[in-house]
Amino acid sequence: MRFTTRQIHEGVEPDPVTGSILTPIYQTTTYVQDSVDEYLAKGYSYSRTANPTVSALEKKLASLEGGVDCSCFGTGMSAINAIMMALLNAGDHCIISDVVYGGTYRLSTMVYSRFGVEFSFVDTSDAAAVEAAVQDNTKLIITETPANPTLKLTDLAAISKIARAKGIPHAVDNTFLTPFYQRPLELDADIVVHSTTKYFDGHNSTVGGAVICATEELAEKIRFIQNSTGSIMSPQVAFLTLQGVKTLSVRIQRQSENAMAVAEFLEGHDKVEQVRYPGLKSFPQYELACKQASGFGAMVWFEVKGGLTAGKKLMDTVELWSLAENLGSVESLITHPVTMTHAAIDEAERKRVGIIDGLVRLSVGLEDAEDLIEALDVALAKV
Ligand SMILES: *Cc1c(COP(=O)(O)O)cnc(C)c1O
Repeated sequence: MRFTTRQIHEGVEPDPVTGSILTPIYQTTTYVQDSVDEYLAKGYSYSRTANPTVSALEKKLASLEGGVDCSCFGTGMSAINAIMMALLNAGDHCIISDVVYGGTYRLSTMVYSRFGVEFSFVDTSDAAAVEAAVQDNTKLIITETPANPTLKLTDLAAISKIARAKGIPHAVDNTFLTPFYQRPLELDADIVVHSTTKYFDGHNSTVGGAVICATEELAEKIRFIQNSTGSIMSPQVAFLTLQGVKTLSVRIQRQSENAMAVAEFLEGHDKVEQVRYPGLKSFPQYELACKQASGFGAMVWFEVKGGLTAGKKLMDTVELWSLAENLGSVESLITHPVTMTHAAIDEAERKRVGIIDGLVRLSVGLEDAEDLIEALDVALAKV
């Protein structure tokens, strides 16, 4: 079956007792066993280990990414944590894209570094730089593409090739494009991670995460951490995410169309210094965007002429666009990464990787594009 059919039906069956078309919220800790000899016959023992509502979502997401298995977590960060905890030991080295979600940077530099794990933040858009950064003790490569917030792209097939040749697992944060537009496992990555908070939920209602693996061996390692650290997603969150995912492809297509319209509007505006959107011909990696993904997504950034001061004024006054940290929802959001999502990254590092002070990030929602553009037009006239 094709993607949109699978996003609706995969992993979900009518409830065998009542016929309920939606998988119920199994709000239970405990599962009664038939006998000691048939312990775990129905697959469940205790909801830290597995829960039927969460399992339904895990099956669905594994199918959408084309993996063998998926484990869902309380947040996107606990999903990324599970990958690091499963694959890194003291003395190991990990390569990460130099532009990544601020929380990933913080987890690496302020938590795992305390346990003797070494990190290199590398420009993963340059495959040669990744190859050069590999050490004898490199045990994991994490890439994020398009990267949050600069939208720099990493050639996933090129990095997977290097990783495979050296026997190092390649994990990809696919939060921005979702499997509807980009499937890293088909480009030979080994692990995909998501903040389900973003496009899978899509409605600003939950925080959650997911890890999808290409092999049983990796999937078992992730499950072990999910259980050992007690970081499984809750059944209510799984239920809401199950409903959100059913409209994923339709939402992200329309949101991407809106993003293209907004980006084109900004590109033609005389108060705008620069705009970046992978769907614009002016985007530095436009060809790679077309090659490895089937769509451009709904994240855009731009800089207003007048830099930080003008950008702040715009963010504080623009109507319709909510000033907020999240992304991927039906509501359009506007974010200042330097003070919000990426505040954990120190200034010199931020500057080095191109997260400029005046960078204004847009998560383009599902409203009418004309209304979104008119609101920006009015706000730009005032800066
Ligand atoms: C939001 C985000 C995360 C972290 O997810 P949470 O659900 O907020 O913990 C990780 N990676 C990317 C790309 C994100 O946008």
